Amino acid sequence: MKKIVSRSSLIELAPYEFALASAGIKFRRKNEFISGAIGELPFIEAWPELWLIDDEQFEQAQQICQRIKQDVNQPQIDWSCSECKEENANSFEFCWSCGELRRV
Ligand SMILES: [Zn+2]
Repeated sequence: MKKIVSRSSLIELAPYEFALASAGIKFRRKNEFISGAIGELPFIEAWPELWLIDDEQFEQAQQICQRIKQDVNQPQIDWSCSECKEENANSFEFCWSCGELRRV
């Protein structure tokens, strides 16, 4: 298994989980119950993490995570679907109408 992403809270991980699951990527959470019991651990080691179950999906998983990271740092810009031309909110990784993966 390979680690895909770690964030400081489960709330921050949620968009990653949603996008990965929507893309059919299998992953597992680690450290999700450690928060509040950090104790002597170096802080970053206690962050919730997502680990890839199938290593062959690593590249795809990384691309998805990269795009989410960029989204978080960018102003909200809507996009239109390359398939059905529907307008989608910037926070959507997939078209709400036809489910097509975002390409813009
Ligand atoms: Zn669409």
